[in-house]
Amino acid sequence: MDFEPSPRLRDLLATIDELVSAELVPLEPDFLSRPFTELLPVLEEKRAMVRELGLWAPGHPEELGGLGLDLIDLGLLSEAVGRTPIGHYVFGMHAPDAGNVEVLHRHGTEEQKERWLRPLVEGTIRSCFSMVEPNMPGSNPVMLETTAIHDGDDYVINGRKWFTTAADGATFAIVMAVTDPDADPHRRASMILVPTATPGFELVRNIPVMGHTGSDFFSHGEIVYEDCRVPRPHLLGAEGDGFVIAQERLGPGRIHHCMRWLGICGRAHDLMCERALSRAIAPGRTLADQQIVQSWIAESHAEIEAARLLTLQTAWKIASSGWRQCRQDISAIKFLVAGTLQRVIDRALQVHGALGMTDDTLLAFYFREERAARIYDGPDEVHKISLARRILKEKSRG
Ligand SMILES: Cc1cc2nc3c(=O)[nH]c(=O)nc-3n(C[C@H](O)[C@H](O)[C@H](O)COP(=O)(O)OP(=O)(O)OC[C@H]3O[C@@H](n4cnc5c(N)ncnc54)[C@H](O)[C@@H]3O)c2cc1C
Repeated sequence: MDFEPSPRLRDLLATIDELVSAELVPLEPDFLSRPFTELLPVLEEKRAMVRELGLWAPGHPEELGGLGLDLIDLGLLSEAVGRTPIGHYVFGMHAPDAGNVEVLHRHGTEEQKERWLRPLVEGTIRSCFSMVEPNMPGSNPVMLETTAIHDGDDYVINGRKWFTTAADGATFAIVMAVTDPDADPHRRASMILVPTATPGFELVRNIPVMGHTGSDFFSHGEIVYEDCRVPRPHLLGAEGDGFVIAQERLGPGRIHHCMRWLGICGRAHDLMCERALSRAIAPGRTLADQQIVQSWIAESHAEIEAARLLTLQTAWKIASSGWRQCRQDISAIKFLVAGTLQRVIDRALQVHGALGMTDDTLLAFYFREERAARIYDGPDEVHKISLARRILKEKSRG
């Protein structure tokens, strides 16, 4: 088992680390204090720089212009870029577009690829993924109210979705809708490509999240689909394939998410150490001299390393035996890393005292935004239950 970056990635990581520190970290105060839309021009400049260096969208397969990295390298890259909240966007590795690229690449028709995939890969358009609904449990997504009914050569979509991340400014949505209510629960829904300019697609609002509404890419939309009509060739894959495609999208994608979270953990840990070393609490003594702070630093270090190793081991297992064989491991890293993330951010914020509550450091942003890590991508509880059931089933077999 080798969790080191490949020689090719090692060089790239050095360039990426340098770029993140020199070009992106200085933008963070603006990112924390101004609407995202105001940052777009400078972010476009940074994206152009990334493209010139041949580093744009490195996570995509080679045939799409990416680097064709294996899951371990991809994870390590996600961790490096994840050290700043604008990293994934600037390097073209951001959710939900990265997942949507994968879905279109695997399941799109030639026509769909030409119209949606190519500009998405180039980063000239954005997309969103519209599955979860306010009135139905996202943790049990076979329960959906949104329908897509055949009408002549079209689908007519009706329903309400929310937390459709980055819907504001997106060119199209991949919408999960029930196409056959009488089918087996896991065959009821399909994925359909819906241009956001279609009549009947209404972005009702960007949802305020802990006091912040966000805008453009950094937002979560509530969308009403009302007699929203799209041609039948906008179907992705076959009818009833919605959940199969969603599973494929989410399984290996969790490595990417977990490693991004570990990038945040690394950054929060650095901030915690820097503050501990520099904050005098008595003449000649800093916070770093206090055993309780030392304990937080040591615990956080150990927890991050453990979570990182399990995530990389899971990436290695997926690469060797396929994600279906690794569902237990994928569930384990989802809640393990999300929990580590919360604890590390919380300790780092506490070490900063009142400063931690301000937007003068990244920690309040992380505390607010990353609380959701235990909810999205399957709430932690659902992953714990499914892991425990599999373990108990194996044990009961003796
Ligand atoms: C920041 C953010 C971004 C998101 N982005 C997107 C997106 O782009 N597209 C999209 O479609 N959705 C998105 N979501 C929605 C997300 O996928 C759902 O919130 C998630 O699946 C949970 O669904 P729910 O909110 O309906 O919670 P519910 O299903 O109502 O569950 C509520 C809580 O109940 C508990 N629970 C649930 N089931 C069980 C169980 N079986 N046993 C024990 N406890 C249980 C869990 O603690 C859970 O947190 C996003 C959510 C957030 C917060």
